[in-house]
Amino acid sequence: MLRPIRRALFSVSDKTGLVEFATELHTKYGVELIATGGTKKSLADAGLPVKDVSELTGFPEILDGRVKTLHPAIYAGLLAKRSKPEHMATLAEHKLPEIDLVVCNLYPFEQTVAKPGVTEAEAIENIDIGGPCMVRAAAKNFDAVTIVADPSLYDEVMGQVAENQGSLTREFRRELASVAFQLVKQYDEAIEEYFLSTGEDASGDTPTDPDQSMWDDEFDPPFNLLQTLRYGENPHQRAAFYADFEVDRPCVATAEQLHGKELSYNNILDLDSALNLAREFTGPAAIVVKHNNPCGAATAPTLAEAFQLAWDGDPLSAFGGILAFNQDVDEATAQAIMTGERFVECIVAPAYSEAALTLLKGWKKNVRLLKTGPLSGAPEGLDYRRVDGGLLVQTRDVGADDVAKWEVKTKRQPTPAERDALWFAWLACKHVKSNAIVLASDTQLVGVGAGQMSRVVSVGIAVQKAGERSKGSVLASDAFFPFPDNVELAAAAGVTAIVQPGGSVKDAESIAACDKHGIAMLFTGVRHFRH
Ligand code: 5GP
Repeated sequence: MLRPIRRALFSVSDKTGLVEFATELHTKYGVELIATGGTKKSLADAGLPVKDVSELTGFPEILDGRVKTLHPAIYAGLLAKRSKPEHMATLAEHKLPEIDLVVCNLYPFEQTVAKPGVTEAEAIENIDIGGPCMVRAAAKNFDAVTIVADPSLYDEVMGQVAENQGSLTREFRRELASVAFQLVKQYDEAIEEYFLSTGEDASGDTPTDPDQSMWDDEFDPPFNLLQTLRYGENPHQRAAFYADFEVDRPCVATAEQLHGKELSYNNILDLDSALNLAREFTGPAAIVVKHNNPCGAATAPTLAEAFQLAWDGDPLSAFGGILAFNQDVDEATAQAIMTGERFVECIVAPAYSEAALTLLKGWKKNVRLLKTGPLSGAPEGLDYRRVDGGLLVQTRDVGADDVAKWEVKTKRQPTPAERDALWFAWLACKHVKSNAIVLASDTQLVGVGAGQMSRVVSVGIAVQKAGERSKGSVLASDAFFPFPDNVELAAAAGVTAIVQPGGSVKDAESIAACDKHGIAMLFTGVRHFRH
């Protein structure tokens, strides 16, 4: 039996969707509402019965709100292990209520420091203290407590609450905890960055001539400087973006930024990956990339449908993602992107219709919109990677695939629909870090296992991500199966067809496992490691 949500604590700076969310929790599921000052006012103004946190703590908000929720009466209710009788006895002894759900988002630090002429005092007053503590406490105790740390999650949480009759599964609470820690991390990074880039000792954050001020003559690359970046992969790393001499291909280096914040180093990496996957497809395709791997991808008759399918592939991971499209973004696609409080870092597309551009520019101040012009095929030429003391050079991984050369190895032939899905999954898999496993349902990516050191673990992750959608899906593997355990795992999840390079000494065992389960398996003869 899942534990019902009985008591929720609300403390939000961004009050988007707050009233609707609280109303549904209270009226449909009888959840008791508690809130901090401003949040309480919003809820009470909407006619909801809501207690002030001070009724729990027996203490008013003090020091201009610097201390609101920092009190044992709050933290005991958040952190007590429900499975530990001693903890529950302590709550009872001190008459401290259990808190089952925390809805909290933090003071708008980044927006504050982005304002021209902001003072240090203003910036510091916008460092949230109690919020992150509460978010961390709730996330730590996800075993019993749910943390909803961003308004973009409300819809999904309500959907899950409805599905579970007023409760949530532990698995979902764990996912929400992971999002919460990610948000707190980003928040602290923004604060650190502010401190590094301001104050008496700061060296200035955007030097314009990297040869002199940024790299101290240590680096003079044979490229054209496009822009210095605020920092590299991490705030303590210096960085800049250079373009090849005479590059005229549609790519991130030649893209025009139409709107939004300055690109970051990680944005550029992710945009490049997303764009390279998008350009693999001929029909309308949408890609969502996170941390250099696709978490959503789809092709569909229209770009708006492709977007919806790509986002739905893994909506939780898509939070804060990079979107790439292989066709011009039209009004319907822009509307689909803007529906449902999504958080997107960047969008890249060949172009935008006038209506789409107006909508997206009005949607969010920070979202970066990039236009590449009409996309051509995959980039050819050489690919370089630095290793300590040297440089690795190779030709790019393009042009190796020929579907006519795929060989069916099993008794069962794939159906035409399975073939289409396999081709889609194979192209997506090529853009996933090895060991790469992709599950697709038709031409929608539904599960990805990326960057694992063992292939079978990647299969496990892809299956777990796909959940129920594993049933009837197809699987692509970037390199051969070393053991038939991969097939067994896929079969148990309901996968019906597999594509992989083949070439293992144990191929025969994998083929036999497929035959046993009625799975169709094809060999490509081509491998797509991405290290
Ligand atoms: P409200 O608008 O409800 O008065 O305040 C909500 C904000 O207060 C939220 O962003 C939340 O993170 C923050 N907050 C909650 N408790 C504390 C606290 O004890 N200290 C500080 N500085 N902020 C808090």
